[in-house]
Amino acid sequence: MRPSGNPPSTPIGDGPIDDWPSRDLIGSDRSGLPPAGEKGDVDAVLAVLQEVPDPEVPVVSVVELGIVRDIDWVDGRLAVNVTPTYSGCPATEVIEQHIHEALVAAGYSDPLIQRRLSPAWTTDWLTDAGREKLRAYGIAPPVGSASKRSLTGQSDPVVPCPLCGSNATERVSEFGSTACKALYRCRDCLEPFDYFKCL
Ligand SMILES: [Zn+2]
Repeated sequence: MRPSGNPPSTPIGDGPIDDWPSRDLIGSDRSGLPPAGEKGDVDAVLAVLQEVPDPEVPVVSVVELGIVRDIDWVDGRLAVNVTPTYSGCPATEVIEQHIHEALVAAGYSDPLIQRRLSPAWTTDWLTDAGREKLRAYGIAPPVGSASKRSLTGQSDPVVPCPLCGSNATERVSEFGSTACKALYRCRDCLEPFDYFKCL
């Protein structure tokens, strides 16, 4: 039973992204890019976007961040739908510009970058590869599922240290290097680290 008053949560990955064949996106072959202006290969576009980093965490691509929601062709023109990580995130316009530039450089003429605000992005959309890269970069990836947490009201999860793996960590500040991260400290290796907050 769902608690009354809460709207049904949107299943993660619902919508057009579900239609994408599941496969390892990172290893996609970049050859065979379609001629600009023709309806083309979604995988080829993904391969280009896989090379576009998140400005705030450059080890993670916009695809791994989960903000690329849909790829389509409108009258022969490539249209990419992007959902900002959170409304008002200052990086959003920069990300959209970088996506546009990367696609033009790859031969897509005048790609349309559209901002889709609903459903809102959640950290549940981070790919497994993206989470691994965050950890390798020294940023603790989000713990648990945003949709589950909103139902249970759970807070302050145990955040394993990305450097030594210890669970003996403590939150130092609600805000880390950016608003979507919190600053934590490890009591074992004594290193401070950013935690990518569960949103
Ligand atoms: Zn540690």
